[in-house]
Amino acid sequence: MKQVTVYTVDKSDRITSVNSTWNDFADKNDAKELTTDELIGTSIWDYIEGDETKHLYKHCFEKVRQLEKGIRIPSRCDSPEFRRFMNIEITPADEGDLEINCEIYHEEKRDQNIKFDRETIQDKNSLGMCSICNRVHITAGGWVEIEEALSKLNLLSEYWLPSIKPTVCEECTQQLENPDNI
Ligand SMILES: [Zn+2]
Repeated sequence: MKQVTVYTVDKSDRITSVNSTWNDFADKNDAKELTTDELIGTSIWDYIEGDETKHLYKHCFEKVRQLEKGIRIPSRCDSPEFRRFMNIEITPADEGDLEINCEIYHEEKRDQNIKFDRETIQDKNSLGMCSICNRVHITAGGWVEIEEALSKLNLLSEYWLPSIKPTVCEECTQQLENPDNI
């Protein structure tokens, strides 16, 4: 099942249009309560978690505007039930506007649901999670899929509500610094 969220921003990164699948995208960023009408005119950065993530996306936006060429960023948009594989395409439009296309092209059901606790992101025991590839960082294994982290840390996901600190892993940082042109 293909799902595409398309939105546009003006040269100050304020949202100028958004299609109806926005809520799936916003769900990832805990902004689900907003209707599409309420989003118009607000800054896209209000919906991106984590300083590193914001910084790298800003870099990508700048690059697209400067070079007037689109880029593609392979990403993940996971939910408690599914691993969702997504391509984010950022393309230039008139006068510094950008069109952002987020297409989920593949979904895999997890063996068991994974819940995230995003309320307590300042917890010092929280796991760093890459906002782009959705892997988490554990001392024992570097950047790994959530399921691998659960088994390595010997945690029962049913009772475990990991608190997550949004960040970006080294691989994704490189990818965002030098994104593929489309
Ligand atoms: Zn990553």
